[in-house]
Amino acid sequence: MLKYMTNYFVRTLREDPADAEVASHKLLVRAGYIRRTAPGIYSWLPLGLAVLKRVERIVREEMDAIGCQEVHFPALLPAEPYQKTNRWEEYGPTLFTLKDRKQADYLLAPTHEEMFTLLVKDMYSSYKDLPLALYQIQTKYRDEARPRAGLIRGREFVMKDAYSFDIDDEGLDRSYELQRQAYQRIFERLGLPYVICEAMSGAMGGSRSEEFLHPCAIGEDTFVRSPGGYTANAEAVVTPAPEPVDATDVPASELRYTPDAGTIADLVALSNEKYPREDRPWEAADTLKSFVVTLTHPDGEKEVVNIGIPGDRDVDMKRLEAALAPAEVEIATEDDLADHPELVPGFLGPQACGPNSDQRTYDEEGNPHGSIRLLLDPRIVDGTAWIAGGNKQDHHVYNLVMGRDFTADGTIEAAEIREGDPAPDGSGPLELARGIEIGHIFQLGRKYAQALDLKVLDQNGKTQVVTMGSYGVGVSRVLAAMAESHHDDKGLSWPMIVAPFHLHVIAAGKGDEIYSTANRIAQAVSDAGFDVLYDDRPKVSAGVKFADTELLGMPYVLVVGRGLRDGVVELRDRRNGTSHDLPVDKAIEEIATILEANRESNQ
Ligand code: ATP
Ligand code: MG
Repeated sequence: MLKYMTNYFVRTLREDPADAEVASHKLLVRAGYIRRTAPGIYSWLPLGLAVLKRVERIVREEMDAIGCQEVHFPALLPAEPYQKTNRWEEYGPTLFTLKDRKQADYLLAPTHEEMFTLLVKDMYSSYKDLPLALYQIQTKYRDEARPRAGLIRGREFVMKDAYSFDIDDEGLDRSYELQRQAYQRIFERLGLPYVICEAMSGAMGGSRSEEFLHPCAIGEDTFVRSPGGYTANAEAVVTPAPEPVDATDVPASELRYTPDAGTIADLVALSNEKYPREDRPWEAADTLKSFVVTLTHPDGEKEVVNIGIPGDRDVDMKRLEAALAPAEVEIATEDDLADHPELVPGFLGPQACGPNSDQRTYDEEGNPHGSIRLLLDPRIVDGTAWIAGGNKQDHHVYNLVMGRDFTADGTIEAAEIREGDPAPDGSGPLELARGIEIGHIFQLGRKYAQALDLKVLDQNGKTQVVTMGSYGVGVSRVLAAMAESHHDDKGLSWPMIVAPFHLHVIAAGKGDEIYSTANRIAQAVSDAGFDVLYDDRPKVSAGVKFADTELLGMPYVLVVGRGLRDGVVELRDRRNGTSHDLPVDKAIEEIATILEANRESNQ
C-alpha cells in the first residue's frame, strides 16, 4: 500500500491538546491518529485505525490459534438479560442506558457475558458440544466516573472479550489456562512487558481472576510483588491476620479527657504527655481510627458504615471501594449521621457501633438494624488494645480490647498496603509499583449460566449448569500503552509490528529528480508488499517533513535529497536514530530485505 502525504487524511498539530496529561494522549492527538469527540470518546483517523487493526490482528491470530471462534454482537442490547443477572443495577451509573420509541429499556454494553451465555443456550444442549470458546473484538461503553489519559480510560473503547463454556471445573481450568497462555503470547508478540497479578473479581462475580498489568508510571493500578514471586493488584492483597494476643494484663478500659487531639499525631503526643505508659511510648499504631463512609447499594439503598483501621495507616479508597463493590462509596457527611445522634463525629469509637451498640437489633434473617455496621482491619485481632474515640466530645477511650470490650460485624481490606508489608503467602516483603491493566481473565463459574439457565445434558443424561470463563483485552488501551512505551520528546516511534506504515519516504529538496526517484522507490517498496507513506508535498520544507517523520513515528524513514547527486539515499531508523546511505540503484532491494527481516519486530 502506498499513500501520498499530499492527499492523506492527516493534520499534525504543533500544540498539545489542553486536556492531555500523558504522552500517549498528547502524541496520538498531535500526530493525527485520533480526535476527541466528547470526554473519553475519540474518533479514529486513518493512522490510528491502521495501528488499531494491527493490534487486533495479533489478538485475533492468538485467539484463533487456541480454537476460540470469532462472533460479533451488537453494542446496543435489550435490558432484560442484564436485569436477570442483576447487572442492570450493579453497574450503577457506569451503565449507559436508553429507551427506544416504545419506552423499552436498552443499554450500550459494558461487556457481554449475558449475550454469550444466551447465544450458547440457544444453540447447544449437550456436553458433547463442549468445551467451547467464543470471542469478539468490539466497542464497549462505560460511563466512567473519571475518563482519563485519552484512550487509556475511555467511555467508549475497543475490547476483545472471549468466553469459555465447560461442563466441569477441570474443563474450566483448562480453558482458563489456554486463554492465559494466549494472553502471554499476545503481549510478548507486541513487545509489551506485563506482570500477571492476582485480582479482585469485582462486579463480575466468580472465583479465580488475574490481571495483566503493563508496568508504567502513569498506570492507575498499584500492584505488589515479593521476592518469592507473589504478585497481586493492591486491591486484591489480603492482609495476613496476626495471631490473637493475651490481654489478661491489660487494665480495664478507661475514658480520658483529650482536648485538641484533632489528628492522630496530636492524640499520640497528648497521650504521651498526659497519660504516659510505662513500658514504651504510645504510637500511632496504638490508635484505632474510625473512617465513616456512606454506601449506596445497587438498589439505591444508603447505608452508613464505620471502617476501623490502625491509626498509623491511611485508608486506600481503591481498596475500600473494591472491598465494598458493587456498592458505591462516599465519605459520610454530618447529614448522613443525622439519624444516629448517639454517634459523636470526630470521636467515634467501635463501642458505639455494630454489635456493641445498645441500638443494635436483628431481624428474622439475622440482618442487623439500629446501629451502623462496624468493619475492622484484619490486624485488629482478639486481645489487641487500642486508643479509640470515646463517643463523647474531647474524649478518647484507652485500653479498649478487641474481643473483651468490643466486637465487629466483620473484617475489611481498607488500609493502604505499604512497601515492606509481608506478602500474604509468606514469600517476603512487598514492593509496590504502578501499572496499566491491559488484560483480565476470570473464572466466572456458574453465576451467569445459573441466572440465565444455560444447562446441558451430561454423560449420564442429567442436566448440568455450564461453567464459564470471561477474558478481556483492552485493545484500544493496549494501543495507548504501546504509544506510552514507544515515544520520545519528538513524537511517536512505533515498532514494525503495529506501525501504520513500515516506511516513510520524504522528498527533501527541490528538483524533479528528487521527487521522481522518491516516487519510484516508494512505489516499488509498496509493490514488494510493504506499507509506505510518501511525503510528496511540493511546497513544504525539508525541516517540516523531517519533524513530521518524528512526530508520526514510522520505524524506517527514507530521505531522498541532496545525496542523490552522489547516487545515494539515506535510510534512517526512527527507533534508535541511526542512519546509513544506500546506493540508489540498490535501494529498493536493500530496503525490502531490511523491512522483510523486521516485519514482526516489536522493538
Ligand atoms: P479497570 O479496572 O481499568 O476499570 P476493569 O477491570 O473494569 O478495568 P474489565 O471489565 O476487566 O475492566 O475489562 C477488560 C479489559 O478492558 C481491561 O483489562 C482493560 O484493559 C480494558 N478496559 C476496561 N475499561 C476500560 C476503559 N474505560 N477504557 C479502555 N479500556 C478499558
Ligand atoms: Mg479488570
